[in-house]
Amino acid sequence: MAKTSSSQKFVYLFGNKKADGNGGMKPLLGGKGANLAEMTRIGLPVPPGFTITTEVCTYYYAHKRSYPKELWPAVKAGIANTEKILGKRFGDAEKPLLVAVRSGARDSMPGMMDTILNLGLNDQTVLALEKASGNPRFAWDCYRRFIQMYGDVVMGVQKKPGEDHEPFETVIEQLKGELFPGKQHVEDTQIDAKGLQKLVARFKALVQERTGEEFPTDPWVQLKGAIGAVFGSWMNDRAIVYRRKYNIPTDWGTAVNVQSMVFGNTGDRSGSGVAFTRDPASGEKVFYGEFLINAQGEDVVAGVRTPKPVSELAKIMPEAAAELERVRKILESHFRDVQDFEFTIEDGKVFMLQTRNGKRTGLAAIRFAIEMEKEGLISWEEAVQRVPAEQLDQVLAPVFDRAAVKAAKCIARGLPAGPGAATGRIYFNADRAVEAAHRGEKVLLVRVETSPEDLRGMIAAEGILTARGGVSSHAALVARQMGKVCVCGVNALNVDYQARQMTVSGQVFKEGDFLSIDGTAGEVYPGELKTAPSEVIQVLIEKTLPAKESRTFQYYSQLMKWCDKATRMHVRTNADSPAQAANAIAFGALGIGLCRTEHMFFEGNRIDAMREMILADSLDDRKKALAKLLPYQRDDFAGIFRELKGLPTIIRTLDPPLHEFLPHEAEAQKDLAAKMGVPVEKIQRRVKELHEFNPMLGLRGCRLGIVHPEITEMQTRAIFEATVLVQKEGIPVKPEIMIVLVGFPKELQNQLAVVHRVAAEVQQEKKTKIKYLVGTMIEIPRGALMADEIAQDAQFFSFGTNDLTQTTLGMSRDDSGLFLQSYVDAEILKQNPFATIDQAGMGQLMKMAVALGRKTRPDIELGICGEHGGDPASVKFCHRIGLDYVSCSPFRVPIARLAAAQAAIEEKKAKAAVKKK
Ligand code: PEP
Ligand code: MG
Repeated sequence: MAKTSSSQKFVYLFGNKKADGNGGMKPLLGGKGANLAEMTRIGLPVPPGFTITTEVCTYYYAHKRSYPKELWPAVKAGIANTEKILGKRFGDAEKPLLVAVRSGARDSMPGMMDTILNLGLNDQTVLALEKASGNPRFAWDCYRRFIQMYGDVVMGVQKKPGEDHEPFETVIEQLKGELFPGKQHVEDTQIDAKGLQKLVARFKALVQERTGEEFPTDPWVQLKGAIGAVFGSWMNDRAIVYRRKYNIPTDWGTAVNVQSMVFGNTGDRSGSGVAFTRDPASGEKVFYGEFLINAQGEDVVAGVRTPKPVSELAKIMPEAAAELERVRKILESHFRDVQDFEFTIEDGKVFMLQTRNGKRTGLAAIRFAIEMEKEGLISWEEAVQRVPAEQLDQVLAPVFDRAAVKAAKCIARGLPAGPGAATGRIYFNADRAVEAAHRGEKVLLVRVETSPEDLRGMIAAEGILTARGGVSSHAALVARQMGKVCVCGVNALNVDYQARQMTVSGQVFKEGDFLSIDGTAGEVYPGELKTAPSEVIQVLIEKTLPAKESRTFQYYSQLMKWCDKATRMHVRTNADSPAQAANAIAFGALGIGLCRTEHMFFEGNRIDAMREMILADSLDDRKKALAKLLPYQRDDFAGIFRELKGLPTIIRTLDPPLHEFLPHEAEAQKDLAAKMGVPVEKIQRRVKELHEFNPMLGLRGCRLGIVHPEITEMQTRAIFEATVLVQKEGIPVKPEIMIVLVGFPKELQNQLAVVHRVAAEVQQEKKTKIKYLVGTMIEIPRGALMADEIAQDAQFFSFGTNDLTQTTLGMSRDDSGLFLQSYVDAEILKQNPFATIDQAGMGQLMKMAVALGRKTRPDIELGICGEHGGDPASVKFCHRIGLDYVSCSPFRVPIARLAAAQAAIEEKKAKAAVKKK
């Protein structure tokens, strides 16, 4: 439970080039608070204020939503400091101080928590604001916005079930109807000061009617309410959903920033904007962002008015534009990363309200990293660390087929907010989009604009399309972060939620119709467009695009070169065919870590021979059937060896329970009986005999080879004959034979006896020497516990973490879907342990097996071939416990290479830091 001590500091001040905190204090001050302090320190124009720490949030939830007693005096001191700097007073009728109250977690959670602006206004202070600004419309606009936000967020005046609109919006619409009878699309800015005064009165009446309470006039009461609401919003539904998606721990808490207001809505020499120091979608080094004249920051993000690009600011306010350009340069050279910042211009003067490392697409991440290294801003090692390994997926993601795009007719254009190509059935509501995705449909979520309520729908969708909003609207921010394809601000879209349809250039699209969107070009196409592989794939795999014609490929290639320079572990692939192996090698795999031989038995008509083997009544019949399988296996292995050209290749002996190879449906059983000329009853009987209550723990893995050594014999013969065949062609071969599901040293010895015997036979028959390794998978806990003894015979271990997770956690890898989500929701598990290694639990077994294995055999080769081999966090763990390689599916190889290099760099940095100490 969070405790407090008298020395604990709950409030950190900033203002006038001085700050208690700094940019390194994100855990305590949140991202926003820490960087407000940092910007203040480096002399950027930040309105003064203070930050209430995340520890207060933790305390708040640990003490029935109450505060440490030291907090309020510290808040008062914070206000006093701000008053002193600005020469204003909180609640003063002459020179009132107005503040903004904003959340700020360690990692940004855009739009998920609450914000209150213009706090401190009441019937007296509004008059002072009116006088000071000489702009009554502005003063009353601030006041009505304050009541609206505070009423909604703190007092809970919100849409009731069954209501279509927010109650405050309904009041605004009614007033507009009275002020401009018969006129459509009246903007809020058209309501004059008198109208806004009316609105204020009506808003207050609405609050009274809905809550039974008067709107608070005392600024201190307002401030208390606002701070409580922001802390309270840490636990609102959408913040919880967001944290789950991004694995943000609940106990981090949020900070609260109380900052003096600056106004972007005082007139035409004012405005608000959001900008990136470089383009976060394409990665190009251009100043990128947008602003609205005469508006507060919320208007830009809400997407209600479509903002202008920052490049146009120079025409309207050249001085402010020059100042922003200066700020842009300072930010990049100070933070040494691309910044995403919020600014307000008040009567021509620029103020900074926030800065943070900008979220970026995978493509932009690579480009930023490569170009910043070239500019000397960062080292090549930092460049490698700057690209989130998971994001490489986006660079490998499909684009629309060029021919398909040429043939299609673009029906509308919007802003390219999230790159990539997406096609799917359109849904106009998040819930229905989620349902459709659950049914297995590919879904595009189409909204006029999105809000945090749409988050679930956005997660479920392939792509997001909105009619309004700019590149920094909610839709764009969230899509970019999730790596979703997104086109926003498509003005030509006319969405009718009621009728569940939209009209675009005269064409009507109903919910469920197909549409395609290109988030790189910002284009919308009717129907289902064919997609094409990314440029990296076109260069490396399909070889249809020359490397020098693709800048994307060149960035990718440079990054991979650096990875090779940094990495200690290498990456292999899980591949069962020459084509898969070829892809993986093109991506930089240095061998095969797992060839599952069972997949080969399903190709062509070899399944018949396999079934014959399983149905055989005698050893002789089984051997006959196996003899038919031998040439198939030999050819398969030879094909793979040719592709590998001397790279090591781990081939695993047969693993799955035999019933997996037999048909279970009556119709298929009848067909098989006819094909084999046996009565169908025989097949049915055999299927029954092979039935197991718990097949994952039954007759599978090396148990099969122990019960039927002839199977292992056939497979090893095929491997060695293929080795000889390919070696004769002048191609080196490095086979590594892996015995599967071993828990007892004797299981391994039993199977190795077969392998070595067959090796001797083949060498003698072919009069050649064969070099090979034999080893085992570590995929049941007993295997890890006995690793020292097993290593007496095993020359390598490969962790089969799919089964090791299943057997260590006692959770079925096939059925855990029934409860995993509930486990994650209840925070019993942070992540799906089948996707990312359970380091605290299963990881112990892995560490133990590494230590025991190396004790017996110091040069033992250690790797992983479970699905975790392509998961960045797991790859880093494998580096830390000292594995030699990770093996993953071919298309994950670049991601694993990047994660492995990052792990090596992290280790080097940590060592250097220890040395320095
Ligand atoms: C494993 O268990 O991790 C593994 C790689 O084997 P399979 O998935 O084939 O059981
Ligand atoms: Mg396994």
